[in-house]
Amino acid sequence: MAGVSGLATPWRLHAVLPRSAANGPGVRYVVWSQGCALNCPGCFNPETHSAPGPGLVRGVGEVADEALADAAHIEGVTLTGGEPLEQPAAVAAFCAEVRARSSLSVIVLTGFTRAEIEADPARSAAVADADLVVAGRYNARLRLARGLRGSSNKEYWTRTGRYTADDLAAVPELEITVADDATVTFTGMAAPGGEFFRGDRGHRGHR
Ligand code: SF4
Repeated sequence: MAGVSGLATPWRLHAVLPRSAANGPGVRYVVWSQGCALNCPGCFNPETHSAPGPGLVRGVGEVADEALADAAHIEGVTLTGGEPLEQPAAVAAFCAEVRARSSLSVIVLTGFTRAEIEADPARSAAVADADLVVAGRYNARLRLARGLRGSSNKEYWTRTGRYTADDLAAVPELEITVADDATVTFTGMAAPGGEFFRGDRGHRGHR
């Protein structure tokens, strides 16, 4: 099937986890973008803030092809960070490609509020193909760390009927993944901070 435009767009990534059960309902392909200027006090992902920081630059089409190659074994894709919507063209192209070529669900976790997204054409386009957007700054005083919300002020913006509140409440709070190279990755809303094992790579849910 023909894909969408924008697949050559470079995308700054912090990391990718091909299969995760703690970043939305079901098993999901998860992309952590690199770069976030929102600076929420208490953010547990500071290593994702620097735009040129750790990570790599990949083409949107390459990342989409990788996710779609596993489509028979996953429920959907989740985009988190860092701040995905600081690279709206890449996010829009990726989500559109996934939507065009599969029935995978799309979840975007962002520090921008729904109002901030709706006021900006590029950000609006970036979430146009999302089933669910988890929107708003992390607020450490309102820490929740359940479902897909790091703090209770964050909004579940359901854009389709794909997921219910019960689906989101059932998302595991913590997942520990051991890769073939012995890299241990913590992820999920309740992942412990700073606990990195061999391979010194750890990732968090969007806070
Ligand atoms: S919580 Fe999310 S939006 Fe806030 S500073 Fe951290 S990465 Fe950025």
